[in-house]
Amino acid sequence: VIDAGQPEHSVVTTCAYCGVGCSFKAEMKGDQVIRMVPYKGGDANHGHSCVKGRFAFGYATHADRIKQPMIRDSIDQPWREVSWEDAIGFAARRLKETQAKYGRESIGGITSSRCTNEETYLVQKLVRAGFRNNNTDTCARVCHSPTGFGLKATLGESAGTQTFDSVMQSDVIIVIGANPTDAHPVFGSLMRRRLREGAELIVADPRRIDLLKTPHLKDAQHLALRPGTNVALINALAHVIMDEGLEDTDFIASRCDDKGYQAWRAFISDARHSPEQMEAVTGVNADMVRRAARTYAKAPNGAIYYGLGVTEHSQGSTMVMGIANLALATGNIGREGVGVNPLRGQNNVQGSCDMGSFPHELPGYQHVSDDVARARFEQVWGVTLDDEPGLRIPNMFDSAIAGTFKALYVQGEDIAQSDPNTHHVEAALKSLDCLIVQDIFLNETAKYAHVLLPGSSFLEKNGTFTNAERRINRVRKVMPAVAGKEDWEVTQDLANALGYPMNYSHPSEIMDEIASLTPTFTGVSYDRLEELGSIQWPCNEQHPDGMPTMHVEDFPIGRGQFAITEYVATEERTNRRFPLLLTTGRILSQYNVGAQTRRTDNQVWHDEDVLEVHPSDAELRGIKDGDWLGISSRAGQTVLRARISERMLPGVVYTTFHHPGSGANVITTDSSDWATNCPEYKVTAVQVEKVSQP
Ligand code: SF4
Repeated sequence: VIDAGQPEHSVVTTCAYCGVGCSFKAEMKGDQVIRMVPYKGGDANHGHSCVKGRFAFGYATHADRIKQPMIRDSIDQPWREVSWEDAIGFAARRLKETQAKYGRESIGGITSSRCTNEETYLVQKLVRAGFRNNNTDTCARVCHSPTGFGLKATLGESAGTQTFDSVMQSDVIIVIGANPTDAHPVFGSLMRRRLREGAELIVADPRRIDLLKTPHLKDAQHLALRPGTNVALINALAHVIMDEGLEDTDFIASRCDDKGYQAWRAFISDARHSPEQMEAVTGVNADMVRRAARTYAKAPNGAIYYGLGVTEHSQGSTMVMGIANLALATGNIGREGVGVNPLRGQNNVQGSCDMGSFPHELPGYQHVSDDVARARFEQVWGVTLDDEPGLRIPNMFDSAIAGTFKALYVQGEDIAQSDPNTHHVEAALKSLDCLIVQDIFLNETAKYAHVLLPGSSFLEKNGTFTNAERRINRVRKVMPAVAGKEDWEVTQDLANALGYPMNYSHPSEIMDEIASLTPTFTGVSYDRLEELGSIQWPCNEQHPDGMPTMHVEDFPIGRGQFAITEYVATEERTNRRFPLLLTTGRILSQYNVGAQTRRTDNQVWHDEDVLEVHPSDAELRGIKDGDWLGISSRAGQTVLRARISERMLPGVVYTTFHHPGSGANVITTDSSDWATNCPEYKVTAVQVEKVSQP
């Protein structure tokens, strides 16, 4: 333990890792952070934190930080360090030349769920008002885009319904495709506390997650389904509820659209959705499904929490709607202890979606085809806006390979490492005439870049993040920007160089503009955030202090909408060549592709990704713990070390993707959600065999 001594002062800010959004006091000596102390006044964490957050300041001052802008004419040339002015000028010239040669639609931008709301808002504004098209998308495309689609269609708002603290009022907790104790540790601990107090737990996951090992757990139920069969399972649960008359008829009559309900009722009551019929598909015993459905439906308060094991499927959006169906049918909406709660992976996934990053939505989920909404933005932004949705990230890649999309501005996202089917992504990036990467490290995407603009870490800027419970938390600057500019200033400079004027002097002014244009944010300002500590949107005239629990009296769309959720098997099938199913997840000490956590002191607890293999599959292949394994899929190959584990079902293997060498995305296919193109990371047919050390 290093004694860093007494701090001279401290600054309260927000962790930049996961969607819990813990508040910390950054304790300072001069400009140096000496430790991060969980802040007792934090509304999301109440003084708790996980190991990632405590060590986070390590990456902000890491020697690998990019401190100087760099440019090059082509990707086979070495980088040239230049001034900010030269780099921005070079980038603007290239963007203009590209549009002049290939047309207005030939360029676009990608926002980051790691950056602040204000920065994200500016990037999409730059694209819409500066580039004059709607080719903006966010890295949320590859994680929670189905949440946005599914919850908006059924409940009318693209967001979770509860506060984290609401779980303390739950009697039954369903966790689907999430691993909260590893991926959302502070909330995972709170959930554990409620389970120890006696709440019942139902987990639907191919893997035996740690939550199931909670001491003194009351009779937990584990529905260990086959990867890719979520919708079959959720339909079977709903079928039991209707079959056995367990639905909440009063809630349905008073709060839900009757026509839609009648259609859904007829659909879900069909015997093909029964647990007995679905057992062969899901692999889950029918009696267990019936028991789980009864447990949830009969609970005074039943809450559902879900993660990427729901969304990252070819039926991700269908599954989100299936979860909402279940909550509507049982009246588990609109009070504490219940609800539908997506556990967002990154710190600002919610915010990046709220801020209009998607190509079809302006900030506040206002569709680009909405003439009234567009007119408001046009008046404030001083331009005419496109009324047609732009390109999503996968469409950008396809169009780049086709030669019609030629330039891309990427802020704070490593698409070469985090998007599926790496070979396809690399081919797309190589075919661009201009790739501008703004990041704190020289990431994998930067290999294909022509302009490298140094980014600023969460400690170097002012702004806000919005966590998984819609809570807007302040991010406060604790040290000067390492490269001299905050991310929002870089975007502003680029806009000005392109000829679209931006003139903000502080992120609070950007938030004021957001509030003036976004109906769910009209009451949000930095002054109100100082006064209240944090605000859960919607925050407006009707809810001046924000709204902890949503849909209490009505839905933004009037009545709750049941959705028809037909199960369609994924195209990713096992066969003799690829007999196992690979699924992926995270561990506690690492974060996503590890670009930050690998550069902090917590890396000592985990230094490689491994492949978990069930003992029966290992025995069949002569695999022992620690052996090197070659893993091949229809998309590619990689090599990982084996860990024999009974946590997986036989026939299913599991890995994480925290290290660049893991190659998890080299082997994932480009199958994606039918509604949003969210990649199907969670189901890949693979073969596994022993190989000599790579
Ligand atoms: Fe909190 Fe998540 Fe940061 Fe851990 S990683 S400190 S749980 S916000």
